Amino acid sequence: ASNAAASASTARRSGPLGTPVNPSDFSAVPDVIVNHRLGHTYIKGPFLGKGGFAECFQLTRTDTNEVFAGKIVSKKSLSKRAKAKLETEIIIHSSVQHPNIVQFADWFEDDVNVYMVLELCASKSMMELVKGRGRLTEPEARYFLYQIIDATRYLHEESVIHRDLKLGNFFLSHDMCIKVGDFGLATRVTHEGERKKTLCGTPNYIAPEILEGEHTHSYEVDVWAIGVILYILLFGRPPFESESAKTTYERIQNIQYSMPADVPVSHDGRSLIALILTRNPFDRPSLNTILAHPFMTNPQMPDRLPTSCLTRPPKWV
Ligand code: ADP
Repeated sequence: ASNAAASASTARRSGPLGTPVNPSDFSAVPDVIVNHRLGHTYIKGPFLGKGGFAECFQLTRTDTNEVFAGKIVSKKSLSKRAKAKLETEIIIHSSVQHPNIVQFADWFEDDVNVYMVLELCASKSMMELVKGRGRLTEPEARYFLYQIIDATRYLHEESVIHRDLKLGNFFLSHDMCIKVGDFGLATRVTHEGERKKTLCGTPNYIAPEILEGEHTHSYEVDVWAIGVILYILLFGRPPFESESAKTTYERIQNIQYSMPADVPVSHDGRSLIALILTRNPFDRPSLNTILAHPFMTNPQMPDRLPTSCLTRPPKWV
């Protein structure tokens, strides 16, 4: 499971826009960062992590002592296309608000960097959780899936397709709630029935219609990713993973995956995965239909989870 989870994350390191990541591209981030427009000063704290384009540091706002995550992108590293994507990320992320979405607080720029000030999450994402634990218990999977679906349902109501739902983009709060982050591939549907064309996503989670060059996609790609996520949570590895992205794509296009009988996953869990992972996007269930499925309505649904779940199954099992 750990290799599987790791490869799902490193796939993004090459950058969604195809720009290779070169550590020397990152400019030094100053120790004191000022948003002159609002008169806010932030002190740079510990390094939190690095993605395809951004470096993240803890930031403390001096007048309120509030602590945030600063996602900082060097302008030098940005191609024209990447700059346009960053603008979309800022416009979309700053416009959404939900308990299971990383809250966007502020953004500004200076000559060298663009700064996004975000709700600070614990350093662990669902990726580390699955790396440490392998497959989860069904009540845990149900608990996390509910929060992922609730956030996605909200985004779809706001005409936003996230397009990069995956374990590495689900941060965990200190009380084990999911915070969906990284709107770097998100897009807004501007008129009803609009279908998107651009190829994007992370190999293990890409929907088959995105791989069909001439075809278009919409909200159903997020539903597909939720099916992949449920499979990973219950079986402990991605359904279509292989040694190369090309073979993974072939498996996705042929819906070629198995649910091994010797893994103790319930009939309801298996049937929900099979319902979601369908080739034709219009045959996929809506998010509300998923929530009404017996796997999701099962009363074994914890209100909260202890942080000990990061390393071992909860005691009730
Ligand atoms: P990119 O869009 O360049 O891939 P990410 O959004 O994945 O960047 O962020 C890079 C890393 O920074 C993450 O893997 C994580 O370690 C850290 N990080 C990002 N956002 C937060 C946050 N809100 N709170 C804490 N750490 C964060």
